[in-house]
Amino acid sequence: MTTNTPYYLIDKSKLLPNLEKIKYVREQSGAKSLLALKCFATWSVFDLMSEYMDGTTSSSLYEVRLGKEKFPGETHAYSVAYADDEIEDVLKNSDKIIFNSIGQLTRFDEASKNHIRGLRVNPQVSTSDFTLADPARPFSRLGEWDATKIEAVMDKVSGFMFHNNCENDKFERFDEMLGIIEERFGHLIARVKWVSLGGGIHFTGDNYPLDKFCARLKAFSEKYGVQIYLEPGEAAITKSATLEVTVLDTLFNGKNLAIVDSSIEAHMLDLLIYRQTAKMEPNTGDHEIMICGKSCLAGDIFGEFRFEKPLQIGDRLSIQDVAGYTMVKKNWFNGVKMPSIVVRQLDGTEELVKEFTFDDFAAALS
Ligand SMILES: *Cc1c(COP(=O)(O)O)cnc(C)c1O
Repeated sequence: MTTNTPYYLIDKSKLLPNLEKIKYVREQSGAKSLLALKCFATWSVFDLMSEYMDGTTSSSLYEVRLGKEKFPGETHAYSVAYADDEIEDVLKNSDKIIFNSIGQLTRFDEASKNHIRGLRVNPQVSTSDFTLADPARPFSRLGEWDATKIEAVMDKVSGFMFHNNCENDKFERFDEMLGIIEERFGHLIARVKWVSLGGGIHFTGDNYPLDKFCARLKAFSEKYGVQIYLEPGEAAITKSATLEVTVLDTLFNGKNLAIVDSSIEAHMLDLLIYRQTAKMEPNTGDHEIMICGKSCLAGDIFGEFRFEKPLQIGDRLSIQDVAGYTMVKKNWFNGVKMPSIVVRQLDGTEELVKEFTFDDFAAALS
């Protein structure tokens, strides 16, 4: 199959190693895993993912509805704040609802009284070194932290959600922070039936001590008598997709530049936000070339990479590890052609599952 670039290529055979680890964790620890849709919501591959995961978790009404409609299993609803005109649909599309604050829990107490309810708790420790993404940042609005206040609403909830890990690939740090959670909230955890430990734990990474992780989860779950949930986003889909692009122009401005038919701002926005560069493989050779996007943002740059030969117009490049926080954030800035989505099935065949046109661009505004 030949698809015009740009396109995101999701390879199911590269999803599998992550999914196998997720399943192993469920078998060894009893912890269930829910896909965090805010990271990855490309539902064409939910058939495969749902064989290994227990359901989805969400951050809005539309995400919870997508989870309910497209992903068999459990559907957790969470949002920083629900509006009056959303709550009914959120309840209809979820098995559990997790409120971000005691204010929201109280406000929707009557509406949600027959639903399984939880509360987000902020343990005030985290692993993020970027304040922008740090749930434990000063004055954070993400969850309640005062155990006395939480104790007063214990009759309304049967579970808690803690989400304080962020791209954390160190088991020791996870373990230490879980210990802090136990010190601060253990007496309350003993009174609930389920605890979600959120996402941000990079347990599908190479060399992660999975057995230690499982043992820690199992011990926690047995000590407090709770069902644990994990909410992997990035960990579920890491290294499973590439962004396929084509070189449109080359220039020399003191450095060798190549302009491709994509845009970091429109198609890989997180790289800009977190000041990271894209990943290119093998990134070896004598020719260093800056790969640039085609939007008119001056800093629309994927990064500088090494190549064996100078790049030429028409050359194809594969930007690596692009599944997370890309397709869910792509936008129509500059009217740049939005990448199609292609799935490589387990038998190797490639299937074009989505193509975007001018009509989609026009329909996004009015
Ligand atoms: C963002 C988020 C996740 C997923 O985080 P990853 O870092 O992608 O694993 C899970 N749960 C909650 C509450 C989140 O906000």
